[in-house]
Amino acid sequence: MFNLVLFGPPGSGKGTQSDKLVAKYGLIHLSTGNLLRKEIADQTSLGMSAKSYIDSGKLVPDAVVIGMVDSFFDRHKGANGFLFDGFPRTVAQAEALDELLTNKNTAISLVVALEVSEEELVKRLLHRGQTSGRSDDTDESVIRKRFAVYTNETSPVAAHYQQSGKFSSIAGEGSIDDIFTGICAQIDKAR
Ligand code: AMP
Repeated sequence: MFNLVLFGPPGSGKGTQSDKLVAKYGLIHLSTGNLLRKEIADQTSLGMSAKSYIDSGKLVPDAVVIGMVDSFFDRHKGANGFLFDGFPRTVAQAEALDELLTNKNTAISLVVALEVSEEELVKRLLHRGQTSGRSDDTDESVIRKRFAVYTNETSPVAAHYQQSGKFSSIAGEGSIDDIFTGICAQIDKAR
């Protein structure tokens, strides 16, 4: 199995690049943000309890997210690899993911981090908010809150993976195709 974590702050292009990467490498796309938005659209109790966290720019509690990932794995038993997008977002989630993958006799193969300046991120997210219908993209104070959460809770996840030597970062500004080529080069080196 080849298991890729696409890492980076909100608006760094993880979703855009994920769509291209799953098409090229045949990985299963696991976006916890997409799964949570689906739960909200379906008005499940998980979705209803997650909504207030998402709307205020906070992280949904680890136990909820880890349980959701566990059941996603159950539904994709024959997968030949996963692309993790927006997960793990805390060190506790990274540790839980290591354990879930160990139970499947596999592990994280590579982490690629997309680096984008905060001013560019705000611009991209406000622009996305005009068309995405995402309530967390329309309010600049919620966007800034998500960056603070990223700095405090998510960026330590990079150190978790740096220790294993599987971490690389690339510039996330420029053309979508150039960034994609850069990510593919990292994947092809690691496979
Ligand atoms: P995203 O679509 O990845 O930007 O996620 C949108 C929102 O969903 C985040 O701001 C969080 O509130 C929530 N969320 C998504 N993934 C996670 C995660 N792995 N852990 C906790 N909260 C998450």
